[in-house]
Amino acid sequence: MEVIRSNSEFKVWRASARSDIALVPTMGSFHSGHLSLIQHARQLADTVIVSLFVNPTQFGLGEDLETYPRDFGHDVALAEERGADCLFAPPVQEMYGRLHATYVHWPELGARLCGKARPNHFQGVATIVLKLFNLVRPDLAVFGRKDGQQVLLIKRLVADLDLDIRIVVSPTIREPDGLAMSSRNINLTKSERTQALGLYTALRACKERILHGEQASESLVGTMHEALGQFPGLRPEYIEIVDRDSLCSVESIDTNVMVAAAARVESTRLIDNLWTYEMEGAMGVEL
Ligand code: AMP
Repeated sequence: MEVIRSNSEFKVWRASARSDIALVPTMGSFHSGHLSLIQHARQLADTVIVSLFVNPTQFGLGEDLETYPRDFGHDVALAEERGADCLFAPPVQEMYGRLHATYVHWPELGARLCGKARPNHFQGVATIVLKLFNLVRPDLAVFGRKDGQQVLLIKRLVADLDLDIRIVVSPTIREPDGLAMSSRNINLTKSERTQALGLYTALRACKERILHGEQASESLVGTMHEALGQFPGLRPEYIEIVDRDSLCSVESIDTNVMVAAAARVESTRLIDNLWTYEMEGAMGVEL
């Protein structure tokens, strides 16, 4: 596996890479979720490029940019073990030159859900992902469903800007008890970790009710709030049931919704979601 830390070196390497090329964008500190994305990409493409870049423009003031978990040596070893061909890890000054002034954003969709608490977050995401797409020129890119709003917005970016890149959505990888894996989970103390399970518990209760035929959003959100009541250390930020194209709230669910939730345990912010889909004429749920 090549480890490349500059854009110019990357361009030279890219010129001789075999297509199909898959890109897996990450911020590092790899856990099994990241590794499943790399494996997924490995199954779909001849060349797998993993980018590792803790993107400063997607962190707001007072957020955890400085303390975001970083473990470069560990990440290199894990990416290589899972069969990546290249780990592209540019320093900040390579990606944002002194005169950088161009940003891409979703004025409406980026202000919904997580955008309410993180106003400039998705502008940072759109800008870095578009830059990576232009540098890497992949045939496909793999993103986790765990960051549901992010992957839906990236699909929108690709469609709206006519990018010829297939966006592949990979399932959420969870701890044995159901907690969605996240680089930030290592910040949780033992008692915070217990409280963090509330999001999954609430979504699982929602899933059960959907599978038993409940379609009214108000009732499903009520079920989730009730489940969260058992986790007093978890402060819900939002629980919303939205259409996956418009990200607008729906009154009644169909096979194209995302039930999305965000909450804080002390200073750690957690997100999780489920998606409905059609399964042989019936309602399926991916959690
Ligand atoms: P991050 O390093 O947090 O920016 O995440 C990089 C990619 O990994 C994104 O596409 C995330 O959606 C995905 N990802 C993060 N956590 C998980 C998880 N638990 N399961 C699957 N994919 C994940």
